[in-house]
Amino acid sequence: MSSARRAAADTKSVRAAVHNVQFDPRASARFESARLAFRAKRDAGALTADDIQQFTEEIRSFSDAMGWGTRQVRKALREGRYRAPGFVIEDEVGYDRELARRSVGPGWASLVGEIFDFRDAHCPHARVVQVKEKFGALTVYLEGPHACLGVLSDFVAEVERRSETICERCGAPGLTRAGAWIQTLCRVHSEGRPPLAESAR
Ligand SMILES: [Zn+2]
Repeated sequence: MSSARRAAADTKSVRAAVHNVQFDPRASARFESARLAFRAKRDAGALTADDIQQFTEEIRSFSDAMGWGTRQVRKALREGRYRAPGFVIEDEVGYDRELARRSVGPGWASLVGEIFDFRDAHCPHARVVQVKEKFGALTVYLEGPHACLGVLSDFVAEVERRSETICERCGAPGLTRAGAWIQTLCRVHSEGRPPLAESAR
């Protein structure tokens, strides 16, 4: 199978791969509900330190229930059978566009597309190892041939900087906002959260 076809097949099998790992479905349901509640509060800019502490505990207990950290799951990660948004993926395929898009908010979909277009045109053998939001910016980790990785990295750095001016939720012009969870958001999605530059940076 070509690597492109394999990437597509891998993406389609994300859910199946997750369910190949033995875990308690009640733990999954509990975590999903905690995750949605946390996200709603985060998006409303209403997170407290207690909420973060509590959610960190939820992650820990879910992680234990899932068996992350066990040899079985580490092997699944290494072999690319566990392909989940935001995770480091160390197989030879890395992230494809679809998984990369699902790893950040919809407002940054076109930025992710630009990175993959540039990669395909200028450094096709480079792998995207991780895509996530970090401190309000699109963050992309790459591995690849020395000859073209520098050019690709410079391009990605420029796109990452641009993400700090684009709302992660809707793609409108945005500012990086203060809060328990730093995010780049437009005025509509900011829910009144002040730009980072105006608070203690
Ligand atoms: Zn917005």
